[in-house]
Amino acid sequence: MSFQAPKGTFDWLPPKSEQILAVRAALAQPVRQAGYGYIETPSFEDTELFARGVGESTDIVSKEMYTFPDKAGRSLTLRPEGTASVVRAVLQHNLHTGQLPVKLWYSGSQYRYERAQRGRYRHFWQVGAEALGAEDPALDAELIVLAARGFADLGLTQVELLLNSLGDKVCRPVYRAALQDFLRGLDLDDDTRARIEINPLRVLDDNRPEVRAQLVGAPLVVDHLCAPCKAYHEEVRALLTEAGVAFTDDPRLVRGLDYYTRTTFEFVHGGLGSQSAVGGGGRYDGLSEMLGGPALPSVGWAVGVDRTFLAMEAEGLLGETTEARVQVYGVALGDDARRRMFLLVDEVRKAGISADMAFGGKGLKGAMKGAGRSGARFALILGERDLAAQAVQLKDLTTAEQTEVPLAQVVDVLKGKVQ
Ligand code: ATP
Ligand code: MG
Repeated sequence: MSFQAPKGTFDWLPPKSEQILAVRAALAQPVRQAGYGYIETPSFEDTELFARGVGESTDIVSKEMYTFPDKAGRSLTLRPEGTASVVRAVLQHNLHTGQLPVKLWYSGSQYRYERAQRGRYRHFWQVGAEALGAEDPALDAELIVLAARGFADLGLTQVELLLNSLGDKVCRPVYRAALQDFLRGLDLDDDTRARIEINPLRVLDDNRPEVRAQLVGAPLVVDHLCAPCKAYHEEVRALLTEAGVAFTDDPRLVRGLDYYTRTTFEFVHGGLGSQSAVGGGGRYDGLSEMLGGPALPSVGWAVGVDRTFLAMEAEGLLGETTEARVQVYGVALGDDARRRMFLLVDEVRKAGISADMAFGGKGLKGAMKGAGRSGARFALILGERDLAAQAVQLKDLTTAEQTEVPLAQVVDVLKGKVQ
């Protein structure tokens, strides 16, 4: 029996793996350019951090976490998302007592025990950004603009931004009560009725047609925003408009938990079927306090890198992965020549030129095949006779033109040709 990657997981292999590295880098570039610092947190944390930081009533905590006891009996959980860890780290290291906002970005694996399907995996990758400790509509707008730029820089044109406001601790409870009143009058199953009492906003998120049909007249949070929340939201919208970032108001876009406040947004892509969200985020003004910290109004997002890759595939942006693996490829015949080639290839690399060579004692034909597959523009061919003459054959694989170059000069000659 041979092993398979666990259900819901997969491997990134060359040459596609080069493309996913490039996608991660491109999504991070705009936030790096805006002065966000890189943070790396552990891939597992105390289970309690996520229970409180993501919320017991969410699908993530109630169904999707990889939780296990370690050998000392602590309950640990593989991180299902990044924000709780970032807030934990900020509080632990007192970053919030310095200059605010604290601006951080991350990139890493996330783990959720989900129903595995295209675009929904048990191990996936997110790039995320958070700005902690400031309540300023310009900060919400900045983060949205930077996420949108990441998508645009990748060439994506079909990413749509959905935007909403969830109100704050003044207006949200009033809205919540109005929504509960409305929902209690509907014909719903027991689970959903229970949700009305714990997490009524999540009922708005229900995708079942029979539920959707009943939600048509539901009160909307936009109609319940208090004056400061309304003004804040208008400013975010105005800044986005001025920055040329198109958005669609989506009054049903919700996040269930009380510490999510005001701005909430999602980036969706039409080419991904039901796993359409490529990223999402919003304000979480109450999260720090949920984790035992001081009031620390914050905003952030997470982008799904795997889904972004699928979106690029859907838009035909990935193209052929024929990019050359290396620029130069060494072919040596005979043991002495091989030992010399080993050193020569390393000299080439030290000069900043990418290089590989044939391994495994291949003959000329097999080694030249390797040179072709590597995508290299130049082959360095070294036989016993060349070695005796302290020279190497430099072959341009695009023209098949071959010239003899003294071994001592070959690095310089290559530098002139490839750079
Ligand atoms: P969905 O509604 O699709 O379950 P979500 O609301 O759970 O998404 P978030 O927790 O906001 O997603 O995570 C941010 C982004 O991470 C999503 O927009 C998506 O692109 C990506 N993502 C979330 N879950 C998965 C998964 N299981 N596999 C791949 N990507 C995922
Ligand atoms: Mg989910």
